[in-house]
Amino acid sequence: MQIISRAQWGAKAWNGTPNAVPLAKRTEFFVHHDGDAPIVRTGYAIMRAIEATHLNQGWAGVGYNFVVDQSGAVYEGRGWGLQGAHCPDHNISGIGVQIAIGGGQTPSAAALAACRALYEEACKRTGRTLAKRGHRDGFATECPGTKLYAWVKAGMPAGNYKPAPEPGGNTGGGSGTETARYQVVINGLSYGYGAKGAHVTQVGQALESRGFGQHYTSGPGPVWTDVDTENYADYQRSLGLTGKDADGVPGEDSLKELLGTLPGNSAPKPAPPFPGRDKFGAGKNNASITMLGQQLVRKGYGDAYTSGPGPKWSEADRKNVQAFQRAQGWTGSDADGLPGPKTWSLLFA
Ligand SMILES: [Zn+2]
Repeated sequence: MQIISRAQWGAKAWNGTPNAVPLAKRTEFFVHHDGDAPIVRTGYAIMRAIEATHLNQGWAGVGYNFVVDQSGAVYEGRGWGLQGAHCPDHNISGIGVQIAIGGGQTPSAAALAACRALYEEACKRTGRTLAKRGHRDGFATECPGTKLYAWVKAGMPAGNYKPAPEPGGNTGGGSGTETARYQVVINGLSYGYGAKGAHVTQVGQALESRGFGQHYTSGPGPVWTDVDTENYADYQRSLGLTGKDADGVPGEDSLKELLGTLPGNSAPKPAPPFPGRDKFGAGKNNASITMLGQQLVRKGYGDAYTSGPGPKWSEADRKNVQAFQRAQGWTGSDADGLPGPKTWSLLFA
């Protein structure tokens, strides 16, 4: 399975040295949530926020062995081989995984499937069937919340798991059908489960503004999840589409109707020439910086911008470039946040 490494998401150096734990000592698998507040971050920012909290507590770094987000991405914390800090008395025997939701958010099917896959991988690596536990099984805590705990107690089913209805709530009419998980390419851009980019956020925002955002618990983001599919299906049904035409994966006509125009360009433009290292860095102010920032956002590396991007070089520019560089697996001066010709050509590729 694919795990986004500490280097990729931009972890800080360990504060101290976490103890190594041999796989032979692992006997249980703990599921956690984030706490009482809903998670609104996406992508690497989720890990950086957890890291900041845990470092503040004086810990070595992220205390979970792994974190799974709502898009189903898996991030490395302590990993397979280091002692975690997630459940007292169970940090050696237990592998701790946080599903990055909080405040009653509903775990996505993608998150549950990824957590289950991690569990399977953990059993495979240890050569035994690990006990399935929620944090509250080892410690007096609400964690991992009622929804995740029910899922753990149900045996961590992967695929098409529908959480039990809230007590006293609408029992709903679950269709029992799988949410469509495939992608289409329209005008050179991908849509559907797993598709990524600013154009995905754009679709989500358009759905929301048209009143089809009811399945979002944390707002639209740049990664297409089952929730985007469900909202898009609602929108398709409002157009009178049925069956496969209303499965939540865009067709060209419904997309054009939603956005007014089709984003993207079927003819890929060649990368613009690298403007030179002297265009970037503290004190610089030019159109190449705006162009860089816009491309970072397009590629999903705009987390550090609170405004802009604009022509004046900022620490947010540097952080976003660095996140992109680290995502290439680069470290040290190769990931200093200042673009060189290689960063530029990969970014605009
Ligand atoms: Zn917990």
